Amino acid sequence: MTPPLPPQNTPPAPPIAVDLLITARWVLPMAPHGACLEHHAVVVDQGRILDLLPIAAARSLYAPREQSDLGEHALIPGLVNAHAHGAMNLLRGYGDDLPLLRWLRERIWPAEAEHLSEAFVHTGTLLAAREMLRGGVTCVNDMYFYPAAMARAYLDTGLRAIVGLIVIDFPTRYGAGPDDYLARGLASRDRFRDEPTLRFSLAPHAPYTVGDAALLRVAALAEELDLGIHTHLHETRSEIAEHLSAHGCRPLARLHRLGLLSSRLAAVHAVHLEDTEIALLAHHGASVVHCPASNLKLASGFAPAARLLAAGVNVALGTDGAASNNRVDLLSETRLASLLAKGVSGDASAWDAHASLRAATLGGARALGLESRIGSIEPGKQADLTAIKLSAEELQPLHDPAARIVYSAGREHVDAVWVAGHARVRGGCLTAEMPAGLEATVCMWQNRLVSSRIH
Ligand SMILES: [Zn+2]
Repeated sequence: MTPPLPPQNTPPAPPIAVDLLITARWVLPMAPHGACLEHHAVVVDQGRILDLLPIAAARSLYAPREQSDLGEHALIPGLVNAHAHGAMNLLRGYGDDLPLLRWLRERIWPAEAEHLSEAFVHTGTLLAAREMLRGGVTCVNDMYFYPAAMARAYLDTGLRAIVGLIVIDFPTRYGAGPDDYLARGLASRDRFRDEPTLRFSLAPHAPYTVGDAALLRVAALAEELDLGIHTHLHETRSEIAEHLSAHGCRPLARLHRLGLLSSRLAAVHAVHLEDTEIALLAHHGASVVHCPASNLKLASGFAPAARLLAAGVNVALGTDGAASNNRVDLLSETRLASLLAKGVSGDASAWDAHASLRAATLGGARALGLESRIGSIEPGKQADLTAIKLSAEELQPLHDPAARIVYSAGREHVDAVWVAGHARVRGGCLTAEMPAGLEATVCMWQNRLVSSRIH
């Protein structure tokens, strides 16, 4: 039997209707590592990335309802700020130029004891979320008090967030102790658990502020509820020395003994690590969140970032709170991380620009257990995207877009930001208007903080 002839002159398939087509001179998808595509388009539908392909092919295949032609821009996955205390934007500049423990005991903890409230946290977190979005951040891992107020602020602004349910041994205006913090935190999680841009984690403040019983409960709850663990670790030498005399071991060893060391763990700072501790973190698949500006400002030291990467530890980047950094600016952390890694390791090839961008995107996503949903520009992932305008005069000439972004550009060059396909920044400005009364409320908190320092 004669096989049927192939159809002649088949008309081309009609274009596929999609929500959004974004075209850019460069697309840095982060997967595969180091890739830099020219004249490509990202196709977005229902909040997800549907396709990544050359612009000409995209125009013939898709019929977008909206189009964003970025021109001489680089499109990267949205930045992931893997450690922040959003509400502390209200404490920016409140305790500058002090070492960590004096800063905490003389400034931050007394201010929190007097002023912490739902309203304080909501206002501070709103400020932080707006600052982060303008700076190209699309996801933040936050740890603070009043998780319901944090959640509302992130929902109000559209920034994707992991809300850390704080656990700390001492009472605050928010809670009476570890059991109370956990009960309140888990109730907030229940209230917001269906919000698609929110996730929750367990956030024991640090081994030096949380006892064994609470840490054991955190380890058990993390397994039971499938939650990540977000904690400060080995930030300063004095913290480790105090822990040694109180517990007879270094903090990481105690976390290991109590069952907190796993791929669920995002260990923030990890400035002071021995080789065996780096190997232990790598073996258990734990992540380190490197916060270079905060570590420098509090004179905590230099995290062994290049050695961590070389050992196979997943490294993310964080800003920490505005009280210990004073810029909630993750893009500037990519530059600082690269420069510091080179200086500390004595190796100019350490932490190249691609490594820094990876830590700020995919590394962050992995630290938060979100690597299947965000962190790279790949079909199926959420359309969390940041466009950086590389045509500015001060960024010329241009040889390598990744190096240009990390070493030369700043957050002032962030031109557009999408979270789950929703435009949150256009033309360098937030698409949402400033909430009514925000400026006056910030001024009110500033006056209260000033008067509490005087008395
Ligand atoms: Zn912190």
